[in-house]
Order: sequence, then C-alpha cells, then structure tokens
Amino acid sequence: MELLTASSLRSVHGFPTRAGGASTGAFASLNSSFAVGDDPAAVRANLEALARAAKVNVDQLFTVKQVHGDRVVSAAEAKSDTEADALITRVPNTAVGVRTADCLPVLLEDRRTGAVAAVHAGWRGVIAQIVARAIKELIGDEGKPGDVHAAIGPCIQKCCFEVDGDLPERFSTAFGQDVVIAGSGGAGKTKLDLVRAVQVTLERAGIPSDHVASLPQCTMCDTRFFSHRRDQGITGRHLSFIRSADTSAG
Ligand SMILES: [Zn+2]
Repeated sequence: MELLTASSLRSVHGFPTRAGGASTGAFASLNSSFAVGDDPAAVRANLEALARAAKVNVDQLFTVKQVHGDRVVSAAEAKSDTEADALITRVPNTAVGVRTADCLPVLLEDRRTGAVAAVHAGWRGVIAQIVARAIKELIGDEGKPGDVHAAIGPCIQKCCFEVDGDLPERFSTAFGQDVVIAGSGGAGKTKLDLVRAVQVTLERAGIPSDHVASLPQCTMCDTRFFSHRRDQGITGRHLSFIRSADTSAG
C-alpha cells in the first residue's frame, strides 16, 4: 500500500494510491467500493488492509453512501447505506473515510477535541458548501475554526478539470476569479480549480492558511490514481481516511 499524507494533520490519516490491493483489471488494485462492479471479496480485503493502516478494526472504519449532496452526519448515527457526503467521528480511536476517483477528499481535525471529519467534494459539493458545513458540525457551538487543521488530497486538478455551460460563472461568483483558468480548455470548455475553491472555503471559515495542506497530485494525469474521467467511468475508488485521537479531550 502506498499512502500519501499531509504535513498539516497530526491524526493517523492517509490518501492511498491504487497500489497494494487485491482487486484486478479496471479496479487494480486498492478499490474500496462495492458499487462499481468489483469482486466483493477483493473489496473486503482492501477495506481490511485500509483499516489496519488506519489502526482500527474494520468495523470502526466508517463510510456512507455518497450522493454528491451537502449532508454531514456523525459516524455514531450513520450506517453504510446512509446517504451523506461528510462524516464526523468524536469517538476516540475510530476512523472515517470517503471514496473518490477525481472528486476532492478533504480531511479535517479539531485539535481541541480530537474529533475528525472526512468530506467527499465534487463540484456539486464544493458549490453546495459541504466543506463549510462539515467544519461547522466538527467544531460545534463551542469550538473555534483556529483549532481546525485540514488537508485536501489527490483529485482532478486545474490542469484537467474542464467544464462548460454556466459553471465557470457560478464558480467565479461563489469563490472569486482565481478559480477559473482563463483561456483554458478545448472548444467551449473552461478549466476550473476546485482545490482553490475549497481553499477559499477554508479561509472564509476562519481556518488559518498555515493549517491547510493541498496535495499536488492530479488523479487524471497521474496513473497511480483511479480517475472517473480518464477511465470513462469504469474504475475503482480510493478510500481516504482519518482517525480520531486516542482520548476524546485534550
Ligand atoms: Zn491533471
């Protein structure tokens, strides 16, 4: 297994590449999703390996059914078929994970409480402010955004994320001109910088910029990663994960 990590996070966490799993073919090899047509036994083996990497039992590595929405749930209340796109855990020594193949995996930790969150953010989630919602839920009424540290993992970067229609305008209105890459893209297409949009979201939420790391890898250019666009929909999903602190307070 090859796990990328972010210098901004102190918690046990990882952003895996495709390497070191049990799946074959289009899902080779560390696919974490039962919903893409992969062999369930291979997916189970991969989830067990990921749980070991997260230093939890496999039943303490929580995930949900992701639907490109803006719902944030607590792992204690969620089941694997709960529909949501962000998951928080406050229970010591438990982990939360999100599945991606081009979308942004965002991991958050609150150093005051030891609580952590994992967020799945595609363009729909980014514009629906799911990252801001997750931060608000993570810190609760008594917390401070200054206690939050964040990492944005490998995803489709501004080199590759071409869109059309009214998306460039919607994104520049919501996040500023910087998120639209001028003069880019093929006919009628423009490239967007979703990572920058999430960085703006984190800044506006009050998280100091030196608490944030953004990994540079592009899942579409770099074949170490599953890419929904490059692989034309037939591909695996990475499970990015983060584990809560050993003790609930302090
Ligand atoms: Zn790229």
